[in-house]
Amino acid sequence: PASGKSSVIRCRAAVAWAAGKPLSVEEVEVAPPKAQEVRVKIVASGICRTDDHVLGGYFPNIEFPVIPGHEGAGIVESVGEGVTSVKPGDKVIPLCLPQCGECCFCLNPDSNYCIKSHFSESQNLMPDKTSRFTCKGKQIHHFLWTSTFAEYTVMPEYAVAKIDAAAPLDKVCLLGCGFPTGYGAAINTAKVKPGSTCAVFGLGGVGLSVVMGCKAAGASRIIAIDINKDKFAKAKELGATDCVNPKDFTKPIHEVLMEMTGLGVDYSFEAIGHKDTLVRDLLAHHRCLCVMVGELASGSVVSFDPMLLLCGRTWRGSVLGGWKTRDSIPKLVSSYLEKKLNPDLLITHTLPIAEVNKGFELLRAGKR
Ligand code: NAD
Ligand code: ZN
Repeated sequence: PASGKSSVIRCRAAVAWAAGKPLSVEEVEVAPPKAQEVRVKIVASGICRTDDHVLGGYFPNIEFPVIPGHEGAGIVESVGEGVTSVKPGDKVIPLCLPQCGECCFCLNPDSNYCIKSHFSESQNLMPDKTSRFTCKGKQIHHFLWTSTFAEYTVMPEYAVAKIDAAAPLDKVCLLGCGFPTGYGAAINTAKVKPGSTCAVFGLGGVGLSVVMGCKAAGASRIIAIDINKDKFAKAKELGATDCVNPKDFTKPIHEVLMEMTGLGVDYSFEAIGHKDTLVRDLLAHHRCLCVMVGELASGSVVSFDPMLLLCGRTWRGSVLGGWKTRDSIPKLVSSYLEKKLNPDLLITHTLPIAEVNKGFELLRAGKR
C-alpha cells in the first residue's frame, strides 16, 4: 500500500498442504501486521534441510497446511502499532530463533536460546494464536514465524533483525540460518583453537559453513567427511585440508580418523542429522569436543556408554551457531559487506518461486 493503514496483500506463496506432498505455489492473502508485528516483502530465500524435514513430516509439532522457509531476507512493507525498531523500507532478516531480549535466556550472556523460540512456544501461529495467512478460504499456518516461502510474511518485531541498507538480499538471506549455524558452531560453541584438528561430518550448507568457521578460527587441519564426493571440491576451496568418504572404507570412520591423526581430533561437528553418525562422531576421540548441529527427527533416542564422557569427551548442542540473533546477524551482514565472510560460495542455484520444488529435488539429489 502506498500510504495509510495497511490492508490485506494478495501474493504468491509455496504452501505445504500435507506432509509428504510437494509444495504448491498458490495465491494467498496476507493480513496486515497487528500490534508489535512487522509485515515483510521477502526478496530471497534459501532452502535448508530443515525445510525438507518439515515437508517430510518429521516434526510432529508442525501443523499443516503451512508455508515453510526460514532462511530469507526482505524489506519491511508495514508495521503494526507499537513497533519502534524497524520502519517500512528497512532491509531485514527474519529470525528463525528470535531474541525477545527479556526472557531469562536472553538476559544470560552465555545463551542464545530464547523462551519465545519454537522449542518452548509453538510458532505455528502468531503470538496471539491466530494466523496472518489464508488460501482458498482456509487458514494457513506459519512456520517458525518466518514462512519465507511467501512473497509477504508477518513476524513479531523481536523475530526481525534490521540490516545494512547496502546488503544484497539475494546473498545475505543465507545469514538467516545455514551460514551462521555452521560458522558459529565452530567459533562460538566449540571456540576452536588455532592449530587444532577438526572433523566435520556432512558437507551441506551447514557443514561447509562449519569448515569456514574452523578455518577462520585458525584450525591447522580440517577433515571434511561426506558420502557424496561431489561435495569435496567446495570443501577444499573453503578450507578443508583432507576429505574422507566413509564409502571408501570398510572400517568405522572414527578408526580412519584415528589413523589419520594419531591422537584423534580436537573438535568434531555433526552436521548431518543422523543418530548413528552422532554416536560414532562422539565416540571418535578422547578429550574431543563434539558439537551436535544436525537435527534428528523428533522423538529420536540416542544411547551410548556414559564412560565415554567420564573419560573427558564433551558433547554439546548448538542452535543457530550460538549467536544471539538480533544482536549478531546485523553484525555478520556488516562483516559480509566488509568482505570478511564469503557465504556466496554456498549458493549453487538461483530459482524463481514457481520452481521451489526443483530446489528441493536438487537438495535431495545432493546437488546443492
Ligand atoms: P544437507 O542435507 O544439505 O547436508 C547434509 C550432508 O550430509 C549431505 O552433503 C549428505 O551427503 C551428507 N551425509 C548424509 N549422510 C551421511 C553419512 N552417513 N555420512 C557422511 N555424510 C553424510 O543439510 P544442511 O542444510 O547442511 O543441514 C544439515 C543439518 O543441520 C540438518 O539436519 C539440518 O536440519 C540441521 N540444521 C541445524 C540447525 C541448528 O540450529 N542446529 C540449523 C539449520 C540446520
Ligand atoms: Zn528471549
